[in-house]
Order: sequence, then structure tokens, then C-alpha cells
Amino acid sequence: MSTAASDYRLDGIYKQRQDGFYMQRVKLPAGVISAGQARTVSAVSTRFGQGTVHLTTRGSMEIHWLKEEDLPQVKRELAKSGLTSRGACGGAVRGITCGSQGALGFPVLESLARRIHRHFTGNPRFERLPKKFKIGLEADVDEGRHLIQDVGLVLAGNEEGRARFDIWIAGGLGREPRPGFLLSERIPEERIIPIIEAIVRVYATHAPPPKRLKFLATEFGETKLRQLIEAEASYSEEIPVAGGLPEHLVTPAVGHQRVELPVFAGKMTAEQLVIIADNADRFGDGVLMVTSNQNIALLLSPGVDADAELCSLQQSAGLASDGPTPVLRVCPGNHECLMGLTATRDVARELLSHIGEKGRTLSWALSGCNNSCSQPQLADVGIVAARLVADADGLKSPRFDVYRRLQSGLGQRVHEGLTRSELVDTLQRID
Ligand code: SF4
Repeated sequence: MSTAASDYRLDGIYKQRQDGFYMQRVKLPAGVISAGQARTVSAVSTRFGQGTVHLTTRGSMEIHWLKEEDLPQVKRELAKSGLTSRGACGGAVRGITCGSQGALGFPVLESLARRIHRHFTGNPRFERLPKKFKIGLEADVDEGRHLIQDVGLVLAGNEEGRARFDIWIAGGLGREPRPGFLLSERIPEERIIPIIEAIVRVYATHAPPPKRLKFLATEFGETKLRQLIEAEASYSEEIPVAGGLPEHLVTPAVGHQRVELPVFAGKMTAEQLVIIADNADRFGDGVLMVTSNQNIALLLSPGVDADAELCSLQQSAGLASDGPTPVLRVCPGNHECLMGLTATRDVARELLSHIGEKGRTLSWALSGCNNSCSQPQLADVGIVAARLVADADGLKSPRFDVYRRLQSGLGQRVHEGLTRSELVDTLQRID
């Protein structure tokens, strides 16, 4: 008997738009994956899928075009490399993200991301939540990513060797974007996991499915939500960080040079991923990072010529472009996603061929529906396929909303209901 599609979600699996095919998402704490694990993802995609890998804005990898009968074997193959997908979809604590992989403090963030990931992943106390629960860690507030998490942790310094974090909660995008608010400041690391437990418990107790934590912030107000969280026993608890060796895989950046390979729309082939993984072993620390802009970064060993290696890697992996490309985040849209209202990669290619010099200096994000997986409200220019409209013959075409982020906080909608040609016409003149 086949398993209902909804039962696959906690294993990180969604049905694809194409009948009979599934997508498997793989959780990577802080977007970090070893070269060996990357080769496993590549091999799984080649053997069971169509040899493609999608990089998400939350630092995960997705393998599309899987058949239902292969899903158990896919899970086993990933597990052999220490990879898990548990809670990557559905009502669970999702992959722990970090948009600050280039920051000096990243190893601290990666280590904490691994501890949070380990604590909540597959823990039945924190599964079957009303909806997704997203946690992100950042070194600063510059990009605004702390504002779109259920729990956003921002590094707030170090005291007596203990990292401290500001905790922002109840943010989220989707159909009703809401920026998170500051719950507590300068919290020592040993209180972070108990406080997240308190927040998840309040969420699970009070939010009806399929609402996110931000719903409670709106319904109760920030003050009452804060009181409920602070009343939980674990809110005041401290779990001392056990001693031992550091947990991060990424080498502290001293002497290492970070290079980032642009990957159009986060879509790459399994062969490209293997080439990059092999280069990370030969010339770097054997680790790859999926960035929040859907690219792949690696740290090169001291003495390696970064410009030459980047150029050679782009050529050998077939990822070279004609010139500098703007930051452009793109979700799978209706190429593969059931929810998608438009062919996002096609729209993105058309936009890229039209946007002018000024536009190329901006960051862009395009989402195939209101779920906003490419985080359009955090880009300088965000585009959302917001709805379908039928013409006189019943043919449906997407209408696009445009967001601009001109100051801190979330971007604001500046255009609504544009046809594709109106969208291109509007955005090629953007300044
Ligand atoms: S934004 Fe919509 S179309 Fe794009 S990946 Fe998310 S759910 Fe799918």
C-alpha cells in the first residue's frame, strides 16, 4: 500500500507537479556539506532522479524526479553519508539556516546550527507542528534575514568565551509577510535551545494548523506572546555547553580564501556538483557551502590562487557566464513545484536579458507563488507570481507583484498585477 503524500513530508518529500514524481529535500545545517556528502547527493540524483540538484535559499539541496518506489532507498543512501531529511518539509523544525557563511564568526554559528539541528531533528516532541518552524542564525542584521524566521538568532558578541545572541521571533513571508520582533537580547548560548523549546511549545499549543508562529503574534499581540513564552519552564533553563572539540566543518577563515560560484536559479547538474566537490578536496578544506543566494561557496587552502581556481572551476564545471551576473534568487516555480504559477527560470532568463546596467547592481528574487520561497521581500527587487488570470478563451496567465526594499525591514509592494510583458517593461527601467 502506498504512503499518503502528506505522510512523506516529515521525511522531507513533496509531490512534484508532474504526476508520479517526488522531490527529496536534504537538510544541511548552516548550508554546510562535506565534499563526500555532496558526491552522495550527486550519485542519488543520477541513479534515482534526472541528475539535477536544486540549491535552496535556506541552504538545503533538493533532488527532483524521484519515483515513489525508490524513496526508501534514497533515504538509506543519504543516511549512509550521515545526511538526513527528517523535518525538511511539513510541520517540523526545518533546516537551520545561516546567511553569514562569509563572516569571521561563522564557525561559532555553524557549531550552534549543528547542535540545534541535532536537538530538534526527528525529536517527536517537536514534530507534527501546526506548520513549518524556521530557525536561522546570522552574524548581523544587515540583510534582514533574522526578520523572516520563526526564530532568528543574531550574534551579539562574546563574553568570557561565551557567545551571546539576540533572539527575534515570529517573522515570516508567504501571503501575509510579517517581520519578526526582538524577544530577548544578549542571551548566552546555553539558554538558546531551552528558549527555542519554550517557543515551539507555545506555538504547538496555541496555533491552529496551518498557521505559523506569526499568526500568534498577530492574534495575541507581542506582549502576550512574550508572556506565554516566558511562562514556559524551559525559558529560564540553562543547558551548559558540554566540553569537547569544535563541531564546525568549515575551517576558520584565517589564511583561507572564500570563493563563490554563481549557479543560475540554484539549478545544477549532478556532474557539476561532483566537479566542485572534487576541487574542494584538492584545493580547499573538503567542504562546500550552499549560500542563501543559491550559489556554492568553498574555502581554498592558503597559497591557492583564488581567481585562477574560480575561473578554472567555472570553466570545468560549465558554470562560466559572459560577465558579472546580479544576485538573482529563483524558486523552482511551475517547472517542478505543485504550487507554482509560472515558469520562474524562463521569466528570470528573460529579465536578465533586459535589465540595464543599474539593475545589474541590485539583488533580485523571483517566486513562483505567494509562498515566497526565494525571499523576494529581502531583495532590492522582489517579484512574486501572485495569481493566475483567465482570458476570454479561458487561457490562464500569471500576474506579478513587485516589491522594493529601499530600507531595513521587509520590502514593500510597489506594483501589483503586472502581465509578463508589463513586468519586463517595468523592470528594465528600474533604478
Ligand atoms: S514560492 Fe511557490 S512555486 Fe516557488 S517553490 Fe515555493 S511553493 Fe513552489
